[in-house]
Amino acid sequence: MSPPGRQPLLEVRDLRKHFPIRRGLLSRVSGWVRAVDGVSIDIFPGETLALVGESGSGKTTAGRCILRLMEPTAGAVRFDGQDLLALGPRDLRRMRRHLQVIFQDPYASLNPRMRVGTIVREPLDIHRVGRNRAERDAMTRGLLERVGLDASAMRRYPHEFSGGQRQRIGVARAIALRPRLIIADEPVSSLDVSVQAQVINLMLDLQEEYGVAYLFIAHDLAVVERIADRVAVMYLGRIVELGTRQEIFKNPLHPYTRALLQAIPIPDPTRARERTVLRGELPSPAAPPPGCRFHTRCPVVFEPCATLDPPLVEVAPGHWAACHLVPGPAGGASRP
Ligand code: SF4
Repeated sequence: MSPPGRQPLLEVRDLRKHFPIRRGLLSRVSGWVRAVDGVSIDIFPGETLALVGESGSGKTTAGRCILRLMEPTAGAVRFDGQDLLALGPRDLRRMRRHLQVIFQDPYASLNPRMRVGTIVREPLDIHRVGRNRAERDAMTRGLLERVGLDASAMRRYPHEFSGGQRQRIGVARAIALRPRLIIADEPVSSLDVSVQAQVINLMLDLQEEYGVAYLFIAHDLAVVERIADRVAVMYLGRIVELGTRQEIFKNPLHPYTRALLQAIPIPDPTRARERTVLRGELPSPAAPPPGCRFHTRCPVVFEPCATLDPPLVEVAPGHWAACHLVPGPAGGASRP
């Protein structure tokens, strides 16, 4: 999945997270929820990889496993060549300096009892950046100004800010240590469309300035069109299509990607467009359908789909898809 000649900053291989279903007085394990079921992705320095799928597709769980906010069941995660899953608590803390997170809900992710200055300064305090508190306060003021907030925000509390301003505070905290990768979990989903654009512009500016890479998790392809360099589409715990933004938006191969694209509203109602409405709900990851996991909702399902699981194959350089209808692999590459 890597463009030739480039070294990934983050390599994720066959990542799995299965949660036990417990039943009865003895809490015996009666089954498994396969939230993430064999995800492999690379992220390169300074790029944005968008991870897109409906709610329940496993993308947030995948992000949490990569950050080790949750221990994966299996798989490998390497950051800058280091095996993240093998790190002890102290080395993991040190590594976190380079690997930060922005959460979806700017209302819940900021401690309401802490002043904004303390929230943004906290990572600098933990990693003992600067010579003293006065220096860290000066850095905090600079960070707040960089994300478009007045330095007076230092003394105020999160509830005194709007949703968009709170997400700017979250961004200021995430960039405080100049990380190399930020995992942004639905960072604009709870914001109005106009505010979404402002936060995305801010993230793009910071990427240009610091060269930070993003794993941008979203349920909506429309949101990632401006920010993504590459897009990975996830369905029921697996990647079903991965490619450059141009390829995914102009030449989507997987019927699920096409349905997600067709769900994007068109601003001009006179421009008609072919539209596929996805049938039914996302099946339970505790009992994924056999064969192609999408076959119960696929508008073009055909005979082998219910029994044969299509592998993720490279259809054109850098463009991968898992569907029996797509042409064979370019160069014979395939992923689990
Ligand atoms: Fe649809 Fe079959 Fe392709 Fe799955 S393999 S996406 S069911 S056509």
